[in-house]
Amino acid sequence: MISPNSEKDHLGKDFIRKMISEDVKNNKNNGRVHTRFPPEPNGWLHIGHAKSIHLNFTIAEEFNGLCNLRFDDTDPAKESMEYVEAIKKDVQWLGFDWEDRLYFASDYFEQLYQFAIELIKAGKAYICDLSVSEIKEQRGTSEEPGIESPYRNRSVEENIDLFERMRKGEFEDGSRVLRAKIDMTSPNMLMRDPIMYRIKREAHYRTGNDWVIYPSYDYTHGQSDAIEGITHSLCSLEFETHRPLYNWYRDQLLTLNLLKFCPEQTEFSRLNLTYTVMSKRRLLELVEGGHVSGWDDPRMPTLAGLRRRGLPPEAIRRFLAKVGISKRENYIDVGLLESCIREELDETCKRVMAVLRPLKVIILNYPEGVVEELEASNHPKDSSMGSRKIPFSRILYIERDDFLEDPPKKFYRLAPGREVRLRYAYFIKCVDVIKDGINGEIKEVHVTYDPETKGGFAPDGRKVKATLHWVSANHAIPAEARLYDRLFIKENPMDDANFIKNLNTDSLEKLTCFVESSLVSAAPGMRYQFERLGYFCVDSVDSSGKRLVFNRTITLRDTWSKLKQSQKRMKK
Ligand code: ATP
Ligand code: MG
Repeated sequence: MISPNSEKDHLGKDFIRKMISEDVKNNKNNGRVHTRFPPEPNGWLHIGHAKSIHLNFTIAEEFNGLCNLRFDDTDPAKESMEYVEAIKKDVQWLGFDWEDRLYFASDYFEQLYQFAIELIKAGKAYICDLSVSEIKEQRGTSEEPGIESPYRNRSVEENIDLFERMRKGEFEDGSRVLRAKIDMTSPNMLMRDPIMYRIKREAHYRTGNDWVIYPSYDYTHGQSDAIEGITHSLCSLEFETHRPLYNWYRDQLLTLNLLKFCPEQTEFSRLNLTYTVMSKRRLLELVEGGHVSGWDDPRMPTLAGLRRRGLPPEAIRRFLAKVGISKRENYIDVGLLESCIREELDETCKRVMAVLRPLKVIILNYPEGVVEELEASNHPKDSSMGSRKIPFSRILYIERDDFLEDPPKKFYRLAPGREVRLRYAYFIKCVDVIKDGINGEIKEVHVTYDPETKGGFAPDGRKVKATLHWVSANHAIPAEARLYDRLFIKENPMDDANFIKNLNTDSLEKLTCFVESSLVSAAPGMRYQFERLGYFCVDSVDSSGKRLVFNRTITLRDTWSKLKQSQKRMKK
């Protein structure tokens, strides 16, 4: 794992922006910059896709250009409208706008077919009757050249006839394919007469049963770029070996005067995150295996999951700006994402009080039936966020962890005989501990308060070592809190073929908690800092008028690095 690195020059530009600046300066494409984000609608987007979305859309913004949203939907078996809608929502949520430029490669099927006919006529493509597995076998290896298909030199007439009949559905699935006629000895295996069309009787979510032949991804992708007038086709590094093929199709069609535009492909490294799997196929396995509640489970690295977890899109954009763009494969520490989330939420979230694991506290000298409204500020560093009133009364809840009957030396919170401050309220002193007669569990703590300490300060100047959060028992609202931990226990979960076994079995804890009464107005998606406990967001799926569910977006501090440090110390 290496720390984030973007290959920036002294002007702060990464290599892609530098290249585009040059292109604009040289008036290439008449100075036009047009990018696209081209997802396949076969799953939900993850934070890796956000890198590509962010790059394509911000480059368009920076260079006064345009960015399209295009669905590269060439595989009817795996694609659906559900995925299209989810992807559109995610791109919008990230804050990007494709305006009227929403496209589907499936809208180009007819055009792509006509291009293929022209390639056949030009002797650049042929119908091959070998099976897909025979084609694979005859493709050779990286050391050995491939073998030319016996069908490679069919006449143009025969090829056209067969291709037209393929389209009409005269042949069985898998019985024939259309292949580009390139070079079976090319060192690049992708150039060894790649498949352009297959026969597949499968209904497509948009074109229905109009087609029984489907174009390959490589053939479709580049020509879709050209049709849309894309100038810079930016994609992740695994497509580097596909670039010669991208160029080959494009150049053949340019030579035939069939294209008006000449897009160019540039690759950048994918976003990989530690403790995360980032492939739609793997994420689908998690969903289908019931390891998570769905694509939008708040532990998933999908944009829908992260949104539900409570991440503001600004946190993702902040993170992506820090990660930058490079051509080197690397792993980014998920801790960097977490620190960006904390930075963003610290600035924007109102502070409130909630108690996750309640312990009842009775203030013996506080009059029964009295309720005081205490002033609490909404943000310690930003007075523009104002303040609110919180009710204080005789019976409160504090955090169970904040009391110990027999405290060790460095425990400064509440204990018998000890005085502490209640946030925004008073000093209290523990005078008694009430236990369950049967199992000895602490049921409640009895305290006295000092009425002179209103607001949390003693006029005589005496100090306390801890400030506790609390809620008034009669006013607090019961809620469910869901606490999340990383979904995987291994830095690189894919180190093992069976990545499922690296799942963290303790990644979700559900608690019944109490939140302060001001949260009666908390609506799905709203974010708060629960003082001392972390940032929480109202769950947008399971919360309803009657039931409040909070997802902990993130803890206040990086508990994992603390854990690592203490493990290191223990080793020494
Ligand atoms: P996955 O590997 O997760 O299945 P994919 O690459 O198959 O993703 P596509 O829908 O084809 O998903 O991707 C759309 C665009 O997003 C592509 O241009 C791809 O390069 C880019 N992309 C996908 N994953 C990442 C990533 N981890 N980092 C940066 N860009 C990515
Ligand atoms: Mg892909």
